[in-house]
Amino acid sequence: MKKEIIIAKYSGFCFGVKRAVDMTTNHKNTNGKIYTLGPLIHNKDVINRLNNQGIKIMEMDEFDKLTEEDTLVIRSHGVGAEIIQKLENSGANIIDATCPFVSSIHRKVKKYSDLGYQIIIVGDKDHPEVIGINGWCDNTAIVTKDGTDLKDIPSRVCIVAQTTERLTNYEKVVDIVSKNCKELVKFNTICNATKERQESAQELSKEVDLMIVIGGKNSSNTKKLYEICRLNCENTLFIENSTELPKWVITDETIKKIGITAGASTPDWVIEEVVNKIKNE
Ligand code: SF4
Repeated sequence: MKKEIIIAKYSGFCFGVKRAVDMTTNHKNTNGKIYTLGPLIHNKDVINRLNNQGIKIMEMDEFDKLTEEDTLVIRSHGVGAEIIQKLENSGANIIDATCPFVSSIHRKVKKYSDLGYQIIIVGDKDHPEVIGINGWCDNTAIVTKDGTDLKDIPSRVCIVAQTTERLTNYEKVVDIVSKNCKELVKFNTICNATKERQESAQELSKEVDLMIVIGGKNSSNTKKLYEICRLNCENTLFIENSTELPKWVITDETIKKIGITAGASTPDWVIEEVVNKIKNE
């Protein structure tokens, strides 16, 4: 029996991740080695593919390995100003694949920090994007998840948010800070890509017999998509790729309509392999 397959309107690679992967794979370096600074994205299949193309991962403490012939890619999360300086000093060819939305946060943070504002970042202090943003104000930012831990709020404050942060957390912080400071500049820097993926997954999961969420098990945005879909559709699967697709998805005749969504770090070819497996078996 043929099954109907619907792919969520917004799913898979977001603009910034696609750009970073394209910039990396399209780069031709005939002499030196190509590295990415940390894993380019949270997806095992993509990392394996890059590794097979000779593109290796470099950690922050390995810069001394770089030669002038090598190329190093800064991933979409971005890095702090000091790291960029260190990389430039290495003489290697640097490809800055920082998502333009993240670069825009860097510029705001630098500007307002230079003007004497205390920077507050709404987000996770250990997230690479937040660490990178903090590196544009000499690591002096206060990082908070929802503002409840804030004390001694200075009189001039500039608030920005991690691009994947929840709007409610950003709003809570703005509310707390605005009551306690004299001068506030705020930028809602949350990216729409996350919201669009979550909303379209939510809609689709209401109308299908089975929902399949594709993405890395360590990708927080994919986990979130799974949780959202699971609330509307008990029959929700979380798989990394087509090899994890259980046989019953194809044989169970009560499953007529299948919805598919994928995290922002899942490439199109991984989604296509899942669709083809369902269609062809
Ligand atoms: S989620 Fe948004 S900000 Fe982050 S990389 Fe994707 S497009 Fe850029």
